[in-house]
Amino acid sequence: MMDDCLFCKIAAGEIPANKLYEDDDLLAFRDIAPQAPVHFLIIPKKHIKDPAHVTEADEALIGKMMRVGAQVAKENGVTDFRLVYNNGAEAGQTVFHIHMHVLGGRSLSWPPG
Ligand code: AMP
Repeated sequence: MMDDCLFCKIAAGEIPANKLYEDDDLLAFRDIAPQAPVHFLIIPKKHIKDPAHVTEADEALIGKMMRVGAQVAKENGVTDFRLVYNNGAEAGQTVFHIHMHVLGGRSLSWPPG
């Protein structure tokens, strides 16, 4: 748990979130500013700053984020979805606790903005 980390506080239950999935390792919750009909975030409860700070010891945890993200997408009625990690402010990262966006429920364009 990192002080002054919004997503650590959500993981600890100190700040409310609209939770879709939770276990000892991960939490999924709806994005507060959804960019698609289905838009939720998967976070590890462990504080990792961003993808650039993932270590070998985190590999199973990061793989689990993908598996659970796909499972929760299916539970929310989407079979086609996009997974996004922003790394660094220039790439659009605003919360510096690693999170995987899961976006679906509408047609998504490529390339992204
Ligand atoms: P990023 O820009 O990749 O760092 O993504 C951060 C995401 O967190 C944004 O899509 C925000 O809308 C979302 N967000 C920020 N605060 C909250 C919150 N309290 N609950 C849920 N989502 C949040």
